[in-house]
Amino acid sequence: MKVLKFGGSSVASPESIAQVRAILEKRVEKEQLIVVFSAFQGITNQLISCAELASKKNIDYKLKCQSIRDRHLNAVMEMVGQDDQLHTQTIIKGILSDLEELCYGVYLLGELSNRTKDQIVSCGERLSTKIISSSFDSFGIKNQLLDPRELILTDENFVNASVDLPLTYKTIKSNFPFESRLTIVPGFIGGTKAGVTTTLGRGGSDYTAAIFTHALDAEIMEKWTDVNGMLSSDPRIVKNSQVIEKLSFLEAMELCHFGAKVIYPPTIHPLLEKNIPILIKNTFNPSASGTLIFQSEDNKDGAVKGLSSISGISLLTLSGSGMVGVPGFSKRMFSALSRESVNIILITQASSEHSITVAINSEDTDRAVASLNEEFIYDMSINRIEDIVVEHELAIIAMVGDNMQFQAGISGKSLYTLGKNGVNIRAIAQGSSERNISVVLEDKNVKKALNSLHESFFEAGVKRIHLFLLGVGNVGGTLIEQIKDQQKELLEKHQIDIKVVGMASSKKMLFNEEGIDLNNWKQQLDKSIEMEINSFLLLMKKMNIRNSVFVDNTASKVVGEKYLEILAGSIAVVASNKTAASSDYGAYRKIKEYALKYNTSFLNETNVGAGLPIIDTIQNLIKSGDEIEEIHAVLSGSLNFIFNNFTCNTSFVDVVKSAMSEGYTEPDPRIDLSGVDVQRKILILARESGMKIEMEDIKNISFLPSRLLNEGSVDDFLDGLVSYGIEMEKLRKEAEDRGEKLKYVASLKRGQASVELQSVAKSHAFYSIEGKDNIVMITTKRYQDQPLVIKGAGAGAEVTAMGVFADIIRLTND
Ligand code: ADP
Ligand code: ASP
Ligand code: MG
Repeated sequence: MKVLKFGGSSVASPESIAQVRAILEKRVEKEQLIVVFSAFQGITNQLISCAELASKKNIDYKLKCQSIRDRHLNAVMEMVGQDDQLHTQTIIKGILSDLEELCYGVYLLGELSNRTKDQIVSCGERLSTKIISSSFDSFGIKNQLLDPRELILTDENFVNASVDLPLTYKTIKSNFPFESRLTIVPGFIGGTKAGVTTTLGRGGSDYTAAIFTHALDAEIMEKWTDVNGMLSSDPRIVKNSQVIEKLSFLEAMELCHFGAKVIYPPTIHPLLEKNIPILIKNTFNPSASGTLIFQSEDNKDGAVKGLSSISGISLLTLSGSGMVGVPGFSKRMFSALSRESVNIILITQASSEHSITVAINSEDTDRAVASLNEEFIYDMSINRIEDIVVEHELAIIAMVGDNMQFQAGISGKSLYTLGKNGVNIRAIAQGSSERNISVVLEDKNVKKALNSLHESFFEAGVKRIHLFLLGVGNVGGTLIEQIKDQQKELLEKHQIDIKVVGMASSKKMLFNEEGIDLNNWKQQLDKSIEMEINSFLLLMKKMNIRNSVFVDNTASKVVGEKYLEILAGSIAVVASNKTAASSDYGAYRKIKEYALKYNTSFLNETNVGAGLPIIDTIQNLIKSGDEIEEIHAVLSGSLNFIFNNFTCNTSFVDVVKSAMSEGYTEPDPRIDLSGVDVQRKILILARESGMKIEMEDIKNISFLPSRLLNEGSVDDFLDGLVSYGIEMEKLRKEAEDRGEKLKYVASLKRGQASVELQSVAKSHAFYSIEGKDNIVMITTKRYQDQPLVIKGAGAGAEVTAMGVFADIIRLTND
């Protein structure tokens, strides 16, 4: 014999009930089945709200009653054959009339006792099972419908009645054998010895099935629901949750006590006692093998089997120096809480015995605090104990697995993962069985914490990165295209799962937690909401997802000033924007410090030489004990492009214009032509080399007059350049006549940095730098005679975007 239980989702509609029928039809010929059903999906909630409305004298309760009536009578019409219809309708209408009368009574009195509530709520299972039973009859599947009120005997703790298990087992046994091979049992309902209806707590149909399984020594209890089994985490929170093939009873017990809603916690005990396995199966995917929960000695696979969470938790802390070494404080604390029926979910005690902290459901807080204040009134009056400290809006996450005890480092790994994602732990407790490590954290962080823990324990090797991209111009737009083209390969070959979850232009911003479809990001962004940097940051923080990276491809100073705030949220920053790294030295240091302090990263390789590995190389040299002595470099791809293309056939202004349209200059070309951009770059390299240096410390001998550079708009500047063409041509011609070329050179030597236009001879390494290439020559303690040379394309959207992309990938190595 087997006991099966179908939950609300399995009996949500005539279609799903047909699915259940298909599962049972074949089996009932071969084996004896006891089948427990829940109410139709959503009905228990509707019955509760109906009763509550009536108790508040709100006439709308009638509308609810009407919709409950309609749903059940329609189900009779759809599912029960002609011959049985009238009879079934009469019984269903009878139950519905009872329900309506009860609600009317509640409405008149304006009062709802738990006893009445149970009568009302029990209608859900009574209605569903009668309809299912008649429907099966119509399909020729003979069955017998039991009334659990006579079999499951409980105390009078209405709404959450305790079952008198020995008596119940005896009663069920003495009523067996049931007449038919298929016995249908309404779940969730019991009755007192005096025959008053009770219910077993929300989700209690699972418990009904377990009680029958135990009483009748069934082979197995099968729970049929709407997921493929017990999953490694709640699938509504962690999309990548995986089915757990096998679990021990104790693992299942820990998981469901700590919030895995798939099994009602009291269900496990009756089965554990007799070592009868539970199989969790999916009604809508019956061929999936499901999860088997049983007692097993060779249950050795996997350390952490599952993660679960409970929200709505508060922490109460009792502390005081008077507690140290004095026995009995915890006993008094627990007795005081127990007197008020406060359920303690987790306990931690400081090793000094100076404080005890307990986690309880938030709704119990007032009662708990009042009871503790009463208990310890004297101790508080003589300052032996301090005021109770209460913390709200917390949650517990439990990591569960029998084999965790055999593996070191599980708490370390979980704390590291949570820390990296900026999740603060308020308390941590490890059960003495070492089967459960629980952490208390802020409620708002549950989703991020569960997902990051899940990734580190279950998603072998795959690392998800969530990107927030600011700036979709030349570099930003190209980066998006590169990510789009590379996404699949990164996942398949490198197990890096990149999702763009936020993006913004200067006008619009777009968010999608599931990942923005990059095939038509432009259209989506166009239709999206207005961009405002503070709102963008707020939404990003609110999304609060793991492994978040803020990617700044703007040239905006305002955005650069937000990095500290972003890093403080443990969100990594990758920037091609160099305003922050080249602002005042204090601000630059702070960015570095914040990245360290908040256990995250600030990567800005593309600030100098686009995708060329310059900053990374300098950092590695220094880390390995080298010292930078000199740097000589051509660092402006734009100026290089301009001077390389400036020939006797072109005017200077035309070359500048073409550099602009190719995207080789900053949006305002004066930043390049004034040398300010190169000045920033050598500043950044000098700082990376260990110098405390400011922009003003860098000598800048400009080749353009300051009146041109400092006044008016970009167009005014270009007009000005036309009239300055003669001087520029003179400079060019003189260099050409000497057989030299004009190069814009940045130098760092003996603690002094400078930028200037130089005329270099053929023999110089800089002479042959083509197009928009950059070259950096670094002389160090180790590279004394021959400088270390890094050379290659140093400007342009493609290489810069690629450099940003490389920085993003670099983060996955952490
Ligand atoms: P039923 O009505 O069949 O008893 P429930 O709704 O009570 O079903 O339980 C199944 C639901 O539990 C699933 O749809 C899923 O959303 C939720 N759930 C939460 N945690 C887990 C978990 N760890 N494994 C599987 N399901 C879970
Ligand atoms: N119908 C009840 C509830 O929704 C019992 C159950 O489905 O297990 O809580
Ligand atoms: Mg349930």
